[in-house]
Amino acid sequence: MLKDKNEQRTSLSELGEFGLINHLTKYFTINCESTEKAIGDDAAVLEFSGKQVLVTTDLLVEGVHFDLSYMPLKHLGYKAVMVNLSDVYAMNGTASQITVSMAVSNRFPLEALEELYAGIQLACKNYNIDLIGGDTTSSTKGMLLSITAIGEAEKKDVVYRNGAKPNDLLIVTGDLGSAYLGLQVLEREKQVFKVNPNSQPDLANYSYLVERQLKPEARKDIVKLLKDLEVKPTSMIDISDGLSSEILHICSQSEVGCNLYEEKIPLDPQMISTCEEFNIDSTTVALSGGEDYELLFTISQEDFPKIKGNPNFTVIGHMTDKTEGANLVTRANQKVELTAQGWNSLSND
Ligand code: ADP
Ligand code: MG
Repeated sequence: MLKDKNEQRTSLSELGEFGLINHLTKYFTINCESTEKAIGDDAAVLEFSGKQVLVTTDLLVEGVHFDLSYMPLKHLGYKAVMVNLSDVYAMNGTASQITVSMAVSNRFPLEALEELYAGIQLACKNYNIDLIGGDTTSSTKGMLLSITAIGEAEKKDVVYRNGAKPNDLLIVTGDLGSAYLGLQVLEREKQVFKVNPNSQPDLANYSYLVERQLKPEARKDIVKLLKDLEVKPTSMIDISDGLSSEILHICSQSEVGCNLYEEKIPLDPQMISTCEEFNIDSTTVALSGGEDYELLFTISQEDFPKIKGNPNFTVIGHMTDKTEGANLVTRANQKVELTAQGWNSLSND
């Protein structure tokens, strides 16, 4: 559907493994003090004096986690980094380094990998992180991409999933469900394109949704904002699998219950109108659609004045005693038990 305008196709075998790694990484510069030695030796060397070190990794598989017929490789590179940084920020930390490992089939020319690395490099620049290594190998079919992110935090600042207490407020950043709907829009266009290859996708009415799907941003800004406001969440998690599943993680690890208010869930107007068009319930999408990469956290009630009225935050509920369970309070004021569906159950594969 997105036509490859890059006509040049340099076979990876022309470069060899080391030539390829060097070619892709030579323009990466070092941004972080903690990076002592990046690419080029048997291991990278990092130095974090007196800090706690955060490590997180994700594996993305073509056909399972991404579809290159509508995901430009530059966006894929950027998003793959965001997915990992989001996990570091969810610990209330600062991300500092990534490693990138990939397996690629001979279907991919050098120019495709250059695009992928252009996205990775842009993410490194925007978020001030260093690419410090990785691994490169061939695959018999498709592309696999594994990124590991490393971050740091003062011991006193680290926020876990297990610190929420009854009566704490439940807060979410940004708005929810748009990334999932963006995926539905792109899938629909793909099906149209299959039937009529001359059709041009008209995504103007869905620009926000598509952007949320193809170019998510990890909420580094929120970690800074919370610090500036002198608010330390009692628990935090990033929203990768859908709101309800993340709430249930906090509830089970913190051993609390919660009341989530349907009418409080923040939704974008374009998301709402597209739900109407697709004839799906916007609350269901917000609860179970994934890949929003917003932060979900709890704060003690006494911190409420510090975040009150801030447009970055929406209070969507409060924690309760464990015995009360995890509930959605509907617009009709009915209590229904929250269930974790995750976004896979919603996807059409
Ligand atoms: P080794 O044989 O010791 O595993 P490699 O030859 O695989 O080392 O890698 C050489 C250097 O290039 C190492 O610093 C490694 O971390 C880095 N590297 C390998 N593949 C990639 C990649 N896809 N992206 C970034 N750095 C890479
Ligand atoms: Mg290697």
